Amino acid sequence: MDHLITGMSNNREVRIYVAETTEMVEQARAIHDLSPISTSALGRTITAAAMMGMMSKIEKEKLTLQVKGSNDIKLIIAVADIHGNVKGYISHPHAENRFTEDGKLAVAESIGKEGGLIVIKDFGMKDPYIAQSEMVSGEIAEDIAHYFAKSEQQPSAVGLGVALSFEGHVKNAGGFIVQLLPETADSTIEQLEANLSGLKSVTQLFEEGLTIHQIAGQIFAGLGLDDLEEYPLNLKCDCTRDKMEKALISLGKVELKDLLDEDGQAELKCHFCNHVYHFDKVELENLYKNSN
Ligand SMILES: [Zn+2]
Repeated sequence: MDHLITGMSNNREVRIYVAETTEMVEQARAIHDLSPISTSALGRTITAAAMMGMMSKIEKEKLTLQVKGSNDIKLIIAVADIHGNVKGYISHPHAENRFTEDGKLAVAESIGKEGGLIVIKDFGMKDPYIAQSEMVSGEIAEDIAHYFAKSEQQPSAVGLGVALSFEGHVKNAGGFIVQLLPETADSTIEQLEANLSGLKSVTQLFEEGLTIHQIAGQIFAGLGLDDLEEYPLNLKCDCTRDKMEKALISLGKVELKDLLDEDGQAELKCHFCNHVYHFDKVELENLYKNSN
């Protein structure tokens, strides 16, 4: 079962989130039939969104993380709620694998640096919070750290990783976000920097059998870990037939009439979970009557 822990340092100057998302990323890979590099890119985004969604205290809040790429991969979207439910979409499920000089998947190259990162926080009321920042590397983790620093004035360290088997299945996936609270002492920052600079990649740590608790322990070595909370994470779509009906109605009378005359039916696919909703002629006629 995928899960996330969050806690504070003993001196309450730093907060940490650590997530294991192996099952969710493997499910996303299977649902969208992803190439290895697309799995890695979407997996990192889903993992980050899962942690960012948990930062809210507002019951109805939904966090959307959009990565706009400028190279092979043009758009990645992950949406998370505060209960650990996450859904993900990638515009290019079969992006061609590119590799770095040391043989790793070159996610940064596939995404490129010219795009941007958009965070939308929808509180279930009228106006959502929308913030945008530029990409700094295309690695996603660094781009999110940059977003926090720039848009939320929140100094953060972010690590994200997806490890794949030879067959392209997900061996492990996860990540962490560390956030300095206001007025963090220099000694705390120095300790954190030392811990992070000596830290292996998240995928390496999982490979060595470490749990997310142990990873949090390594990052917070010498700082102690308090107020630990643990939550389950799930890849779960919130699409419904009702929402699809509303989408059809919003097309308007003219479009619906065309659909009726030309196809006599409609099929709508959810981009997040690939579920197909079928509407037959009678249903379409009813929607037509209800549209403007
Ligand atoms: Zn769906």
